[in-house]
Parts: sequence; structure tokens; C-alpha cells
Amino acid sequence: MSAGNHDVIVVGAGFAGIYAVHRLKQAGLDVMCLEAAPEVGGVWYHNCYPGARCDLLSVDYSYSFSEELQREWRWSHRYADQPEILAYLKHVADRFDVRRHILFDSWVSGLRRDDETGLWMVETANGASHAARFVILATGPLSIPKEPDFPGYGDFEGELYRTSRWPQHEVDFAGKRVGVIGTGSSGLQTIATIAGQAAHLTVFQRTPAFTAPAYNRPVTDEENARIVKDYPAYRAAMKRTYAGGYMFSSGKPVADCSEEERREILDRYYAEGGIGYVSAFTDVLFNEEANDVVADYLREKIATRVKDPVLREKLTPRGFPIGSRRPCIDTDYLETFERDNVSLVDLRETPLVRFTASGIETTGGHHDLDMVIVAIGFDAGTGAALAIDPVNGGGLSLSQAWADGPQTYLGMNVAGFPNLFLMNSPGGTSVFGNMPVVSEFEGDWIAQCIAWLDAQGKTGIEARPEAQEAWTRELHAISENTLLMKAPSWYSGGNIPGKKRGILAYLGGFDVYQDRGQGEADAGYPGFVTC
Ligand code: NAP
Repeated sequence: MSAGNHDVIVVGAGFAGIYAVHRLKQAGLDVMCLEAAPEVGGVWYHNCYPGARCDLLSVDYSYSFSEELQREWRWSHRYADQPEILAYLKHVADRFDVRRHILFDSWVSGLRRDDETGLWMVETANGASHAARFVILATGPLSIPKEPDFPGYGDFEGELYRTSRWPQHEVDFAGKRVGVIGTGSSGLQTIATIAGQAAHLTVFQRTPAFTAPAYNRPVTDEENARIVKDYPAYRAAMKRTYAGGYMFSSGKPVADCSEEERREILDRYYAEGGIGYVSAFTDVLFNEEANDVVADYLREKIATRVKDPVLREKLTPRGFPIGSRRPCIDTDYLETFERDNVSLVDLRETPLVRFTASGIETTGGHHDLDMVIVAIGFDAGTGAALAIDPVNGGGLSLSQAWADGPQTYLGMNVAGFPNLFLMNSPGGTSVFGNMPVVSEFEGDWIAQCIAWLDAQGKTGIEARPEAQEAWTRELHAISENTLLMKAPSWYSGGNIPGKKRGILAYLGGFDVYQDRGQGEADAGYPGFVTC
């Protein structure tokens, strides 16, 4: 990493940033990475709460760019836990000599383009400044926590933690009365893990989740040998799927299946463990009747896991389509509520009134607590880019450009912001794809684009407004054909009060997304202005 101006500055050293640095340095570019944390990992560094674990198969949720890496790394479990994923990312950073390019403890506090020099000027909270021809925001779609706005939040005198910013030290739950707010993926994992350690656990639930058992288990030597042997073909096949992995689908719509066949398919995917229950049929996210079939099946399964009828009803999701909020998987989560030391507070019946010095008050009474864990999610999609809020050479900020909701072309550039690339951002497949593999595609696309510009003797590229508008119109049209907008979830900004509602990703499929992106490059970037 040189001390002067850089070719590229990458912001963030999670899955996307690590790959981007590797790919760009391989292309011979001078690349620097700024990472706010003292270590690589991104979301897998910060979300080290008890029980944190990936809910996607690790053989899928990992890089595919190096055959050697795939052969060398052995996942211990089908679904790896946070320490194992973080160890993997550290290994990749070391093995591919990425770490040398990263400045840690460097929170990007300002990003402004100077049109005269054609450089992006980057400032960090620790007072440093850097400059580069290109900047890549690899800042993650789920990295900025949703801010707790509970009345009296600051009054609580006990221990207070957020799953999304879990401390790097051990937290002791023994003998303590612990409260958890939030029952999405983070809350579910925390609750099931700490219930056996706390003196008492009170779960504050607003919306119950659709969840199914992960049936996580160690990967056997035989399985591992088969994975390694088949990996190249497996990877090639998964890149041609809708999500870029997780090939759990019968390939049939519900309507084409008899009652018996539906049951057989659902039983098969449920027994497999994981989120296959949502993708088992092709029409679950598009057709309400199909969705009801799968949702009813899951409710039936939830009923078999919770014996107490009152608890069962509280824990049963109703009123929104299955899959319109991110589906969950768990290990003994629902069973946890049958423990004597666990109680459930339904915030729909007794809303939260305020935090107090000694606990949480709801309309149903006061809950005395020694510790509260907040697992209320993220300002998804737009949060990280807007926290930096880049300003272009004309003085327009990204927050101004996105005042009516995010707009990008191909999820990788915003009109008016030359030489600024985004990864896993609104308008890309982002969280609807297999993120490590989506990151590889986008990293390759950006590297290829910079190489093309350099070869042509060009210095700048930005999306044409009309290409961006057409892309944004298309992705909204696709989402309107789905059931995803029928729940106020983070998929569409509905979890943040006041946030503009709109789908945050391209739902046309990762296979199509790659074709569209590569088609643009092959045609000489007609949707972009270059100079
Ligand atoms: P989330 O899915 O957005 O869940 C947040 C939870 O907090 C919801 O139950 C929500 O209830 C509740 N909540 C939010 N604001 C609240 C308030 N003011 N009062 C009471 N309850 C409130 O967030 P998450 O669990 O952190 O997960 C986010 C995403 O990260 C996941 O969907 C997944 O994509 C990813 N993730 C993955 C894993 C994994 O791989 N296993 C683990 C963790 C996270 P409402 O729905 O009623 O708002």
C-alpha cells in the first residue's frame, strides 16, 4: 500500500471488501481498505453474540474463487458458528495477503469527490485523509444497527447489550435476570443459547417468527470428501440458480402438485433442516394460495413443538405471508419456552411503555431485570452508505440523491457519483443472493470495469440517469409481483419508522443479474457515461 493517492479505496473488510481487495490487487492496482473495526469480518466480527451462527449452509456461504481454498478449508458443521466464520475470513485475509492493504480502526466519516483532480477524498474519524481514483463501498447491507428509541432507554442501570454490537469479551449470564427484545434471527439464536445460563430469561416479543429446526450437525469426513470432490461442478451449478446457492427447490409450483405430493415435498425439505421450507415450491413468494399452503404447514410444525396452548398461540406467526420477513431457522428455540426459567411477554397484548432504572415496564406490569439484550435489527440496505453520505463534485449528497428512495444502476453505481462503486447494495441481488458469491461477481465486475477504463485511457464512469431509472422501475415492478411488500420488514425499509418503503434488492435472480451485468460490460457500458 503506497502512501500517496491510491487507485482504489475499499471501505469495509467483510466478505465483500476482502474479496474486492484481493481481486483488485491481483489486477495490479494500488488498493487500500479502510475498516472501522480492529479486525476483518464485518458483520461476522460485530455480531459475536451467544449462539450467532449462519443459517445458510457453509459449503455454499463461502468463497468460490480459489480451488485451493475450497480444498483446504474444512467446515466443522453444516451451519458454521460465528467464531468459525470469523476464523475463515481471517484465514482468507492472511492466505491471500489482504491484511497488508487494510487500515483498521478507520471509520470513514467523510467522502467527497474533487472533480478537478478526479479524486475521491476520504476522511476517517481518527483524523486521517486519503485519496483515490475509485472508491468501493463494501459496507454491508446489514451493518448499521437500528437505533433503540425506547422511552427511558438511557435510564436502565443494569447491563445493556446489542446483538449487532456485542462486546468482544465474555458476558456472564449466571444468576442474572435477563431480558431480550426482538425475535428475528439474532434474537432467536441468543434466546435459545442463554436460556440455560441465565437465572431467568424474559423474552419481549412483538412479532413471532416463522422458524424451523436447523438440524445442524457436524460434517462427516465422508461428506466432506464428497463436497471437496464435487465442489467445482457444484459451484458452477449454484451460480446459475436464483439465489446463487441453496438449491432447495422441487422446481414446481404448489398448484401443480397433488395434496400428497405437496406434503411429501414439504416433509422432505423440513426434515433436511434449514430454510428450504420457503423455497420448496417456485410460487411461494408470488401466489397467496401457495404461500398459505406452506405457512399452514409451518404453523402445524410449530404446534408440534410447543405443548402449552397459550404459549403456542403467542409463538405462532399469523397475518403476513411466509417469506415476506426473512425466514428463520433455529436449534431448540421454540422448546426453550417450556423451560421454567423462561417467560414470554407478548408486546402486542401488553406494549412496552418504558425502560426504568431496574428493568422494563409494559402495560402489563414491571419486569425487574439485571441485563437487557436488544436484538431489534438493522437499518438495512441503505444504512451504511448513508452513514457515510458521499458528496459528489457538485455538492450533491447521496442522501439528497436518494431522498425518494435508493436508486442505483445494477446495484453498483449511482448516477451523478462517478467512480463510486457499491457492493451488495440496493438494486443488486444483495441479501436475496448468496452473499460471498454475489460479492465475487460484483468484485469481478468492478475490477473488469476499471481495467476497461484504464485500457481505453478513460478516467471516469457513472450511470446514465435513464439507465438507472429503467433499472429501478424494473426492480420495483418485479417486487410488486411478489408478496414481499405485504409485511413491514427490513427487506423494504418497513422496520425503520419514517424510512421510505421500497424493495431494497433486485429480485430477478442472481443468474439473471449476472447476465445483465456481464451484458453491460460486454457491450462497452452503454448504460454508463464514460470520459
Ligand atoms: P430482524 O430480523 O429485523 O428482527 C428484529 C426483531 O426485533 C423483530 O422481532 C422485531 O419485531 C423486533 N423489534 C424491532 N423493533 C422493535 C421495537 N421497537 N420493539 C419491540 N421489538 C422490536 O433483525 P435480526 O434478528 O438482527 O436479523 C436481521 C437479519 O440479519 C436477518 O433477517 C438475517 O438476514 C441476518 N441474520 C442472519 C443470521 C443467521 O445467519 N443466522 C443471524 C442473525 C441475523 P417486529 O418484526 O415486530 O418489528
